Formats: sequence, structure tokens, C-alpha cells
Amino acid sequence: MRTDKRGGICFRVDDNKPIRQWVEFARVFDRHGFKFCAALCPGRMAGDEDYTRLVRSLQDRGHEIMDHTPLHSVDKLPLPQGADADAWRAMPGVDHVDATRVYLTYAPIAAATLPEYRADISGNLMKSRTPGVLNDPNQTRFIAVCVPHIDSVFRFRQIERSGDVVLALRSFWDEDNVDLGELRDVVFHKLSKADVRMTLDARVLLAESSLNLFESLGLDRPRTWIQPGSGGCSDFWREDVKACFGDLYGYVAAATYPDRSVKCFNEDDPNGDKRFGMQWGNFDDEARDLDWNLKRIADGIAGHRVLIGHSHFWEHVMPDGWDGYLKRVDRILSWCKENRVPVRTYSEWAEILYRTRPDPEVNVFPELSVDLNADGVPDGYDMLPAEVVRNDGGPDANGVFLTVRNAGAICSVDRLGGLEKGANTFSVWTRGHPGGGIEATFRFFEVETTQKHAFSTKSPEWTEQHATVTVPAGASLVNVTIECTRTGGSAIEIGGMRLKARGEDPTFVR
Ligand SMILES: [Zn+2]
Repeated sequence: MRTDKRGGICFRVDDNKPIRQWVEFARVFDRHGFKFCAALCPGRMAGDEDYTRLVRSLQDRGHEIMDHTPLHSVDKLPLPQGADADAWRAMPGVDHVDATRVYLTYAPIAAATLPEYRADISGNLMKSRTPGVLNDPNQTRFIAVCVPHIDSVFRFRQIERSGDVVLALRSFWDEDNVDLGELRDVVFHKLSKADVRMTLDARVLLAESSLNLFESLGLDRPRTWIQPGSGGCSDFWREDVKACFGDLYGYVAAATYPDRSVKCFNEDDPNGDKRFGMQWGNFDDEARDLDWNLKRIADGIAGHRVLIGHSHFWEHVMPDGWDGYLKRVDRILSWCKENRVPVRTYSEWAEILYRTRPDPEVNVFPELSVDLNADGVPDGYDMLPAEVVRNDGGPDANGVFLTVRNAGAICSVDRLGGLEKGANTFSVWTRGHPGGGIEATFRFFEVETTQKHAFSTKSPEWTEQHATVTVPAGASLVNVTIECTRTGGSAIEIGGMRLKARGEDPTFVR
């Protein structure tokens, strides 16, 4: 059993970037002894021996190479050299094949829940009977249309015709080969990336193609699958990744967009698929400055969460250029080392978060004395009007407490993870006028449950108080607000907050 619920971070860089960038980036990590993750497309490095040698050397140094699909696409594969195209054409999961690519099948669209629109189609041009419906420019929310009458999904280009947007339809695989003749007043649905799902047979071919390519390149097989942001009109759901990549091919982690997981300790995981929803973007080493990143990371760790960075090595979004980027990553890593913040890979974090049971009696409420990013605000807290007092007779060994002079909010802690389901002890030390009082509100927002606990301040001496907080089934996170309901005429002070499973606490009779 783990004795802590310490979160940490993971660095992820996507796409087959130039060798020079990988070499310089890896040098920073190797200097600190930390590992990063690279999501690569094996079909794009085939035949490039320099590139393969680079990737081999990254793997040899312990960096995690992840499967970003063979061609940065969920709907097509490279046709293997010398393959029998007719044999491929007959394979389950294959729609069609051309000289270089295999095009994969999509699952029937669950159209019943989608709004229904009507259109006229002529050749490849689709005009909606409701004006404005096709104008939506969002490529995640509106990536394709489904026409149930002919049981087909089409991608499109939006073009303007006499003041309204019409669609120039393309095939599901984005080929310019659509001609539907004349269709009047047919039903259609707008599809988001999450509405479109690839068949299990197609996913099987995606996994096998990647594994075969990695093997033929002399590389270790990947254990993590990373959804490409562009490349096809389907964003996978984590259950679909688990059912194929996890259950059939031994992948242990993945990143999906529609139903990403929280990545906190004790995350509710009834179907065992949360490790396949580990999306990135919790911090942004590429485009944000050092202080912004350290604050995000410090707050996330205080909440027992794991944070995944974000980078494409895009020099045009780096505020201080490539050299500034490398320096920033170097400083984040130094800070992690100084503060013992774990830096791990996807597959390592998946194991720790979703396969390991931590000690239920460890306190999960953020300590007021911890301020890893040294901005004067305890990590994990929004101070609201409270003032932080240090080294002045606090209630516990840390000597740090909060003080307010007026009724109203004191502090809040948002997205606190690491929770134990069922009965927990929340304790808080208070000091103030006997007429004063505080109230702690626990909002389990994922399951829409709120619990409030009121405490009288009782005494001008530090007094420890307790309440039982019941963490509902299905809750992974809680938002906590502590407020002063009445001052009793003097300052109200609180400190030493703790939250843990009800265990050996002697003040409780079990
Ligand atoms: Zn990508």
C-alpha cells in the first residue's frame, strides 16, 4: 500500500518533430534524471533510419514513446509494402483500399438523440432548409454530417452561396468523390467528433498496424495510445479505447477528449477505464510562463491530482522562443527535484493512480504551511478575504493559520481529490470569541450533493473540532468553502484542517 496520495506531473510532446528538437529537449531531462513522453506516428518514420535511431535512443534512456496512430489518423492506415490489396479489401474493419492507404469503417451513428434538420442535396452540394444551421465553424462540435436516408457520414468544406453557407460534401475519409444526384428534403444530423465512432474491427487494425510498425522499426512496443487531435472525424471514448487497445492489446493508458478522467487519487472508476482518459493540458510548458505553470502544478498536487503538460514544440507559441522554452522546462524540473514533486510517464501514472490503493488514513486536506511555488498563498487554497499568519502560535506544529475580522468567506479549496468514500473525519482548529462560528461546506459537484458543518468557536484558546463528512459513491472531487458565519465581536482564526477516512481517531467512538 502506498503511504501517500502525492500527485505529480508528466511532460507530453506530440507528433514527429525534428530530431534536433528531441535531442535538445531530452538533454534537459537526462540532466535531471527525469523522463518525458512522446506521442509519435510510426507510419511517418518508416524508412527514416536517423529518426528511428533517435527514437530507439530515447526509449533506451527510459522516455516513453506512445502510439499516436500510424499516420496521425483514426480512419486510415498505410497499406504495408507489397501487401495484397484485395486481401486487405476483404478484411473486417476495412471500407476500401487504394495504392497506399487502407480506409477504415465507422460505426452506425446513434442518431436518435441528435437534432434533426432537413436539406436539399445536388451532386455534392448540401443546402439546409433552415438558414444558418451549417454556419457553425467549430471543427470539434461540427465536423461531419450524417444522412440517414442513405446511411452515410460525410465530411465537408463550408462554402458561401448567396449569403448562406452550403456544404461541399466529401467522403467520410475526406475524399473529394461525392455525387448523390438530386435529393429533396432529406433528414440530416450535424455530427461532433464525439458522435462518430470507429468500429471495433477498425480499432483492431489501428492497434495491430501500430504494433507491427513499431516492431518492424526495431522499437519497443507502445503501452499508451494518444488520440490525434486532427486526422479523422472521430474522437474516441475511453471505453472504446479500453475495449480494444486495453483489453485486446495490453495498452495501459490513453488520452481521449470527450470523457477525459480527472487523474486524481481514488478517482471513481466503476468500469476500470479511467486510465484510458488521461488527457493533457493541465499545465502548459510550451506557451505559458514559469510562474503560471508552477502555480498550476502546486495547486494540483495539493489536490492529489496528476497534471499533464502540453507541447508540440511549436516555436511560434513559445513566449520566449525555443531557448526560453528549454530554460523554462529546465527550471520546472529543478523545482520538481527540490520539492520532491514526482515527474513520471503516462504508463507509470496510470499504474499509480488506477491500480494502487493508497493509505486511507492519510490526510488529504491541503496543509496551510505548504507553498511550493512561493507566492504567499498556501497551495490548493483560494484565500478569499483571509489573511495568512505564520510563525505566531498556530494550532499545530506548522504554526500557520488563517484569520478574518468579518463574517463571510474565509477560504476555499477547489477540486480536492484523494477522497475516501464513506465516513471521513474533518477536523479544524478554531480560536475566537465564544460567540463566533464558522461553517464548512463540502460540495460534491459531480453527484450534486452538498454537506454543511457548523462549528462554534467556543474559546479564545485553540480548540480542535470534528465533524463526519460522508463522501458519496461516485464522487472523485470536492469543493470546500469555509466561512465565518459570525465573529462574536473578535477575529476568527482557523488552522490545521484535516480530512481522512474515519480510522484510529480517538475522539470518535466507532
Ligand atoms: Zn498530434
